[in-house]
Amino acid sequence: MHQRLQRLNTCFLRLLLVVLVALGALVALYFYQGGWEKLQQSRLLARVLPGNVITGPQVAIIAGHRGFDSGAVCEDGTIEALVNEEIADRVARLLEKEGVAVAVLDEYDPRLEGLQARALVSIHADSCINQSGFKVASAEQTIIPQQDALLVSCLKEHYAQATGLAFRASAITRDMTQYHAFQRVADTTPGAIIEIGYLGGDRALLVDEPDRVAEGIARGILCFLDAQPTARATPKDASHP
Ligand SMILES: [Zn+2]
Repeated sequence: MHQRLQRLNTCFLRLLLVVLVALGALVALYFYQGGWEKLQQSRLLARVLPGNVITGPQVAIIAGHRGFDSGAVCEDGTIEALVNEEIADRVARLLEKEGVAVAVLDEYDPRLEGLQARALVSIHADSCINQSGFKVASAEQTIIPQQDALLVSCLKEHYAQATGLAFRASAITRDMTQYHAFQRVADTTPGAIIEIGYLGGDRALLVDEPDRVAEGIARGILCFLDAQPTARATPKDASHP
């Protein structure tokens, strides 16, 4: 009787060992296939883990109008939402190449609610009229005016450099400074909205040279990130003069 019990016990232990090894293999496979990166990029974990565990800065890009409406539609068939999305995807790829974790969001993406990121940039294009120039603006009301201003000035400088377009400060509207997404993200998330040019007068650039447009925006965002203390900075670092 005692012997039989022991045999049963060994049998059970062996089974347990097999199950544990299989579980371990599954977990290893998950991390091997990039699960760890995905975990680290999750907002939930970002709040739980200390800052120095997060690998890269997080940037959110809004593909203007996506998931909501088409935006401006021109007589030649150019659709603003599609132009915005094309650029947003290219900006994301350029930033990812630099090790930045990026999320491309819809215009009214639910993830905007309370979003904590190192930067939020919304990409829109202006109307089909025969004018030229771009605009960049941040929220009218903000608790981080210096960071918002820095993001705007980085985008202005690098976008102008990459595209040769003129900055049209006078054309900035309340639609931009009171942009809905600024109010939805965490108030510590720096944000900017860029109108990349006119679908009319700047069509050749916006539609035929999306790489140049994206490069200007990506460089502007990198300029901003480089000027900020990274997520890796620890209190110890900060205490040194
Ligand atoms: Zn728009």
